[in-house]
Amino acid sequence: MTVYLVGAGPGDPGLITCRGRDLLTRADVVLYDRLVDKRLLTSVRPDAIIYDAGKQPGHSDRQADLNKVLVEYGHAHETVVRLKGGDPLVFGRGGEEAEALLDAGVDVEIVPGVTSAIGVLTAAGIPTTYRGVARSVTVVTGHTGKESAQHRSRSSPEPEPGKGPHAQSRQRTPEDASSPINISGNSGDDPDWEQLARLKGTLVVLMGVENRAGIAARLIEGGRSGSTPVVAVENGTTPRCRTVHTTLDHLGEEDLKAPAVIAIGETAAFSLSAPKRYPLAGLVVVTTRSRTQNESLSTMLMDAGADVIDFPVIVTSAPDDDGADLKRHADWVNRYDWVVFTSVNAVERFFAQLRDARDLGGVRIAAVGDVTAKALLARNIRADVVPLDNQSAVGLIEAMPAPGPVSGRNETGRVLYPKAAGAPPTLARGLRQKGWLVDEVEAYKTIAATGGPALNPELIDMVKHADAITFASPSAVSAYFEIVEDGKVPPVVGCIGDTTAEAARQSGLAVDVTAKDHSAGGLVDGLISLRERMKS
Ligand code: SAH
Repeated sequence: MTVYLVGAGPGDPGLITCRGRDLLTRADVVLYDRLVDKRLLTSVRPDAIIYDAGKQPGHSDRQADLNKVLVEYGHAHETVVRLKGGDPLVFGRGGEEAEALLDAGVDVEIVPGVTSAIGVLTAAGIPTTYRGVARSVTVVTGHTGKESAQHRSRSSPEPEPGKGPHAQSRQRTPEDASSPINISGNSGDDPDWEQLARLKGTLVVLMGVENRAGIAARLIEGGRSGSTPVVAVENGTTPRCRTVHTTLDHLGEEDLKAPAVIAIGETAAFSLSAPKRYPLAGLVVVTTRSRTQNESLSTMLMDAGADVIDFPVIVTSAPDDDGADLKRHADWVNRYDWVVFTSVNAVERFFAQLRDARDLGGVRIAAVGDVTAKALLARNIRADVVPLDNQSAVGLIEAMPAPGPVSGRNETGRVLYPKAAGAPPTLARGLRQKGWLVDEVEAYKTIAATGGPALNPELIDMVKHADAITFASPSAVSAYFEIVEDGKVPPVVGCIGDTTAEAARQSGLAVDVTAKDHSAGGLVDGLISLRERMKS
């Protein structure tokens, strides 16, 4: 019974800590905030409860209500993750949540995160400290600038019910809408901007977009020069990132949108890295493989700036005989000249059944695709044949020699092909035509993930409204239509390999991009050039 307050990092889902991600995969309940990237939720167990804490009704008691929910979950479940943007204790009221839990007798562990106050600036190439330029960093909320202070004296402040030191007065500003729930200032007091103006280091303002003009004015009143460099970074560490360099004099006129981090001081003039280029920025792309198989495709798409939705439509499981046939063949593997692998799954299943690595003896190994070859390398097997250009069944048939005597070995002319149930006959047929005796054995089967996270209606809705979808196998195409019952598909369809593209066409889809080289990189390149063509 522990509630983990976990920092999700500033934006990019890759910037969560390993500990944070590990807890997400184990959690029984996850409560997440508005600024948290939803992709982090794809590592959550399918049967876990996912609670959108940003959707609380907007009355003044939101935080009190949420604290109650946290306490209830904390009492009822073993592992509860409260996922908060940036660092859980930097603004965003994480401290109060921890106190409410401790008061209710719930164990709390706090997992730090990369705070936007530092991380967003660092990622944009703006140092918060620099030898000889800035020796200190001050992080302050801009929620209560001059203008809002005046405004507040007119409207009656609405104190939050709460315990003494945590009682807050706050007002809603438009920035609240895009911020984690119930962000508040520093206990309701307006920061002393005049005093802050006298500090020599870097001043970092969070939640300051709304009051930027007032903040600049008060810092200048306090003695800071109007020419002091200022930088605002919107949507830091995401493809929507925008960096605006300005000065205190002009901060008020800049067109800025929340969420943004504003840094004020000499370091704000720095630019230590060129802005990252994102050729797929803003494009929402669905991938349909399982998370582990997707890793490289998802990462490549994200690196290109796409918003990736992982929608694993297939799961693999043991074949109907639970692997008995595969075991029998693995026991006698030494009778074969070759074993051919066409997927990582086949490698994993085969090696799980192999009694002793030495049983392989001098059997030669062929693999289709770099990822398959890598899975073999991880087992210290350097494949003898991996087709270079055409990473497909056809490519492998071409790359394989014909049967013939090999020195030092008793050639049997036999090939073992551990495969997915229902795999297309292309490979076995081609090898037979070459003169090989091919034993096909079912190593695993793929089925539609109808019971998994793919069923989550919210996720299905996001998928249907995406810009593009990718398929890596014919089984993914059929599983998609099994899960998405109305058959709605995003407008752009990309496929890895001709066989997959053919399956997609047979299901009535127009295929826009086909990665002929059977690689994730080929698919990403195809999507990038399609986008460039569409732009021009
Ligand atoms: N606990 C969070 C801060 C919550 S306050 C943290 O440690 O980062 C929310 C404010 O953080 C926003 O108003 C904005 O000022 C800043 N912020 C959060 N994510 C941001 C991002 N990706 N880019 C720019 N500013 C961000």
